[in-house]
Amino acid sequence: MPKNLKSSSKKAASKKAPASKSPKKMKYVYTWGAGKADGNGSMKALLGGKGANLAEMTRIGLPVPAGFTITTDVCTYFYANKRKYPVELQGQIEAGVRNMEKIMGRKFGDTTQFPLLVAVRSGARDSMPGMMDTILNLGLNDQTVEAVAKATNNERFAWDCYRRFVHMHGGKVLGVSKLPHEDHDPFEIIMEGLKAERYNDPKANDSVMTADDLKELVKRFKALCKERTGKAFPTNPWEQLQQAVGAVFGSWNNDRAIVYRRKYNIPSEWGTAVNVQAMVFGNTGPESGSGVAFTRDPATGEKVFYGEFLINAQGEDVVAGVRTPEPVRELKNHLPKALVELERIRKVLETHFKDVQDFEFTIQDRVVYMLQTRNGKRTGVAAVRFAVEMEKEKLIDWKTAVKRVPADQLDQVLAPIFDRTALKNTKAIATGLPAGPGAASGVIYFNADRAVKAAERGEKVLLVRVETSPEDLRGMIAAEGILTARGGVSSHAALVARQMGKVCVCGAAALEIDYHAKTLTANGQVYKEGVDYLSIDGTSGTVYAGEVKTAPSEVIQGLLHNDTTAKKGATYKNFVKLMDWCEKATKMQVRTNADTPADSAQAIKFGAEGIGLCRTEHMFFEADRIAAIREMIVSKTADQRKVALAKLLPIQRGDFEGIFEVMENRPVTIRLLDPPLHEFLPTDEADISALAQEMQMPVSELKDIISSLHEFNPMMGHRGCRLDVTYPEIGEMQTQAIIEAAINTKKKHPEWDIVPEIMVPLIGDVKELQFVKNIITETADRIIAASGIALKYLVGTMIEIPRAAITANEIAKEAEFFSFGTNDLTQMTFGFSRDDAGQFLNAYYDKKIYENDPFARLDQDGVGKLVISAVKLGQQTRPDIKLGICGEHGGDPSSIEFCLKAGLHYVSCSPYRVPIARLAAAQAAIKNT
Ligand code: PEP
Ligand code: MG
Repeated sequence: MPKNLKSSSKKAASKKAPASKSPKKMKYVYTWGAGKADGNGSMKALLGGKGANLAEMTRIGLPVPAGFTITTDVCTYFYANKRKYPVELQGQIEAGVRNMEKIMGRKFGDTTQFPLLVAVRSGARDSMPGMMDTILNLGLNDQTVEAVAKATNNERFAWDCYRRFVHMHGGKVLGVSKLPHEDHDPFEIIMEGLKAERYNDPKANDSVMTADDLKELVKRFKALCKERTGKAFPTNPWEQLQQAVGAVFGSWNNDRAIVYRRKYNIPSEWGTAVNVQAMVFGNTGPESGSGVAFTRDPATGEKVFYGEFLINAQGEDVVAGVRTPEPVRELKNHLPKALVELERIRKVLETHFKDVQDFEFTIQDRVVYMLQTRNGKRTGVAAVRFAVEMEKEKLIDWKTAVKRVPADQLDQVLAPIFDRTALKNTKAIATGLPAGPGAASGVIYFNADRAVKAAERGEKVLLVRVETSPEDLRGMIAAEGILTARGGVSSHAALVARQMGKVCVCGAAALEIDYHAKTLTANGQVYKEGVDYLSIDGTSGTVYAGEVKTAPSEVIQGLLHNDTTAKKGATYKNFVKLMDWCEKATKMQVRTNADTPADSAQAIKFGAEGIGLCRTEHMFFEADRIAAIREMIVSKTADQRKVALAKLLPIQRGDFEGIFEVMENRPVTIRLLDPPLHEFLPTDEADISALAQEMQMPVSELKDIISSLHEFNPMMGHRGCRLDVTYPEIGEMQTQAIIEAAINTKKKHPEWDIVPEIMVPLIGDVKELQFVKNIITETADRIIAASGIALKYLVGTMIEIPRAAITANEIAKEAEFFSFGTNDLTQMTFGFSRDDAGQFLNAYYDKKIYENDPFARLDQDGVGKLVISAVKLGQQTRPDIKLGICGEHGGDPSSIEFCLKAGLHYVSCSPYRVPIARLAAAQAAIKNT
């Protein structure tokens, strides 16, 4: 008899749940099988990625075992109604099971013949590999297992399925997991114990276990569940199904799924679907197996069939990384016909989905079945190569190619590699599978929590594990790279690392890891946690002892160092092609935030079209220059300040000349000084004495001045235009430096159209701007007149104080351009400091008050509204006002799309983010045409 799912009363449902508006008509279950499907590939929002693609694969005639999807609407309902279900769901699930029974010719819970067994899997709109729960072989109990044994004449197989089911259901559904004092999964501990008892080897291959051993395992597993949960393991298949569905919906809000969503900006409202699918078995013997494959290589992007399989195994064995699988091409030695069929499927998938697919298959007694397909996660390098090559193959057009490369991933193409000469003197201690490209060095840590703590202390960390599981996610995020002793390229470690752009080497079997002693042994040499460095090359799979120097990537070598060998490489060429397309598509300029000629020159090589922000105070960060700015800050009198300013003038003029020289005809926005004083005041005794000597004042007097300048909230203090209001001579000196530099450069290059854009920071009131603008224009006009050179210049302002944003129509009377300083605008709109909000923002993410860091991703609902209204108000007064953004959000892809929609003309970001911003701007333009 079916066990009923707990449904909510109609009254409760009609109050809260979105799905309950017209409950009678709701379809919650979508079936597929035998060439027919209720859903299709376009229904990812409702069916999740996995469900939609299973339906689509069924429709196009691929061999997919029958099943059904419970929609994401049910997940929404579940959370809106205290974990209850819509009343009609139970009936629809029963109908779904009946449909499967009909197609597969088996019955759920049958004790007389081979029963229908099912897999229950999660399936969010965007795949979240390994983050949520999967249960296989559901429907087994002490009676049905006998039916399986009898029908297959294979007792071992039947009990192997059963022990796997009790393990997964016990662990994931009943919550029997590792306790703090346990080193790893308690089911694994039991299994190792049994192998030790019976074979003297806790690590013996699973295949040594006989049917009898497996029966004993099931007994011990069930006893463990009883001991830990206080309840007997469920025997009714309907009850098992009901529990598993609940666990999958529940896993949407487990810790690692939340961490994953935050990292990849997946909204929690999306929810997951649940897929229930008839089992096929990869573990019936040597003519069966399971595997994961990609239609092209997801690490390098090369067009080769890529993947791995295990003979006589279920799918979870492959992705869990417990046994190291063989490359898919080796199937020719085991099951050559299955390989031919997989090659055929590979072609069908790419032609149909027009993107690289990552698929799971099972071979049951030589017949291939498809269990899932999705767009393959890929490294940045592979993403660029797939896009460029698929366009060449005419599978996609160039605009699709631009959209295909996740803008955030482009930084992997710029990631460092090991310095070739340094490597020559370094000892390789092991090799594994190259699972996430790039080069990383760090102090080794064997546990995710300790790795996180070490990273928080500022250490460069390498996370080293026997195998990783999703629990290690936080450690993986904190680490420079990930190294495992077991597992293949599609293990969780590899998948997640690749997507995060982390360097990763998997399955380096020569490493002996002792979690207890916190050591790793390779070639007889012992490496200690927290002490020793290792280095890993995730492109070749090599592990090195010690810390190895890293070198720039091929793209960086080609772009920045003009290295001719690098320029001949495929990665460089593909990158350049992609950037050419971006140029063709984009509607917004990408400028850079650069403060030195060297940074500006780099940014141009990355494709920057101008400088959106030159922070003049940053020009004084270097040790030999900071003294001059400190002198200016602590000056007691105007005369003292003038002496200090006279020292600053030639330095600034020289820097500006250097920048104009590099930027040629491109626009350059130079901001007047905005030094939050606390960042510049000396604190060190030696610095204080040196400054006192230079200023010819007693140390005690200087200390008094420093303490008088102390501010309780320096980010909202005496900075920005407020400095020019109190000390007009600062603005005068800076204007003089900018205009003289422009004139000098123009004298050298009369053909260049240099129009300096002088930007006033931290304006809140138009009268402040009028005041500072007067200083600027009087100084500039006087110098220009005296020079006899016709020089145009613009005066504009940052919009970074909410008051400026809401009075932008007034401000635009004086400002010829606006540049949104969204760092300060975010700080002042939220009312928390950009310097230390990190201390409490984690609590906001945990409690789901915020989903993202508003300093990294523009808060479009709040700060964004200020931006939009300031744009409108500014344009009311001055229709042709130039509009840009120079806060950190100018380099964030999702914020860049917002900027385009808000009507900004350019975004400005740090040089290394320029390619990312160019790609994001092009994608936004293509999306919004
Ligand atoms: C800003 O506030 O966004 C900005 C660009 O200025 P700064 O970060 O220098 O305060
Ligand atoms: Mg600012």
